[in-house]
Amino acid sequence: MKRIWKEYKNSDLPILFKSKGTLYCGKWLSYNLENEIHLAPGQRDYLTLVHEMCHAMGHDNHDKKFVDLEFDILEEFFNIDRGELELAAGLFGVHR
Ligand SMILES: [Zn+2]
Repeated sequence: MKRIWKEYKNSDLPILFKSKGTLYCGKWLSYNLENEIHLAPGQRDYLTLVHEMCHAMGHDNHDKKFVDLEFDILEEFFNIDRGELELAAGLFGVHR
């Protein structure tokens, strides 16, 4: 987490919390609030962490810039093939 943050941001590392999350449409979801990342039960994994880190880097919406950043991190730090990420994005209807 530290290495990812340092590469993209020149500010304090967000503080990670294991909390119950925030209730959204009847489900408890992880969220980012300013310099805090809250991971809900069942979502305490690297994918969720990277996703919330992208929000913490200043992207509020799941727009193209957000997804580009998320994919950059997954490719660089987790060695996930870019083509597979793009394919998965297409399958799930993520705006590209
Ligand atoms: Zn999100």
